Amino acid sequence: MGLSIHFVVDPQGWCCVGLIVFIWFYNTFFIPKLILFPHFEEGHVSASAIWVYYLASLFCLISLLRASTADPGKIPESPKIPLTEREYWELCNKCNMMRPKRSHHCSRCRHCVRRMDHHCPWINNCVGEDNHWLFLQLCFYAQLLSAYTLLLDFCQYYYFQPLHTVNGDLFVFKHELALLRTSTFMGIIMFGGMCGLFYTQLTGILTDTTTIEKMSNCCEEMSRPRKPWQQTFSEVFGTRWKILWFIPFRQRQPLRVSYHFANHV
Ligand SMILES: [Zn+2]
Ligand SMILES: [Zn+2]
Repeated sequence: MGLSIHFVVDPQGWCCVGLIVFIWFYNTFFIPKLILFPHFEEGHVSASAIWVYYLASLFCLISLLRASTADPGKIPESPKIPLTEREYWELCNKCNMMRPKRSHHCSRCRHCVRRMDHHCPWINNCVGEDNHWLFLQLCFYAQLLSAYTLLLDFCQYYYFQPLHTVNGDLFVFKHELALLRTSTFMGIIMFGGMCGLFYTQLTGILTDTTTIEKMSNCCEEMSRPRKPWQQTFSEVFGTRWKILWFIPFRQRQPLRVSYHFANHV
């Protein structure tokens, strides 16, 4: 599986991704400039506080870019279905193509996606078998970054000592209160939204049920035998190494090869 770029043409989705990138950029630019660097220079915070902020920010951006440009598990035009797997395939009545069971047709992307979870406008892509792990990482790092930003905003309001060496004529310090309030507002929205989304994603993985299956209340899928949590998470992340579940700089190798052929697109 090479590093191919999957790009969904949807102007509404581009606006949603643009908004997320804007929130990321705003906080990654202003928070260190306004809080971390000045307080570091005056000895109120350590260098590790700055490193952790930039690392969380980097991991957040990489997982966002990768989740939105990764192939979610698109079914190829003429799939070669192994004889032993025929019974696990069905015909899609929207695109008239054969697809493995548990696939779903996305009307926004106009194709079928293997083990599709949902179409997410905020990444302008489907969340399917091949990019679900990146979507989970995005939820995790966005939560971490917004929680850290909220903590810094709170400390700047109520805890940190006043700064003495900053130049009050600079834009960031002149409009400090407005910038902080905007950051806090965005932080609360992002943290609240991401916590809810992450929780529903985790329960979905633990019960081996996709969001679409949950919404359609499919009894057959709900009564599927429970697997140990380590196995369901390993299947989503494509590795049993738990440390790798947190790393967005890698390629996912599918652990289970039934229901579809190993060398898909
Ligand atoms: Zn289809
Ligand atoms: Zn889609």
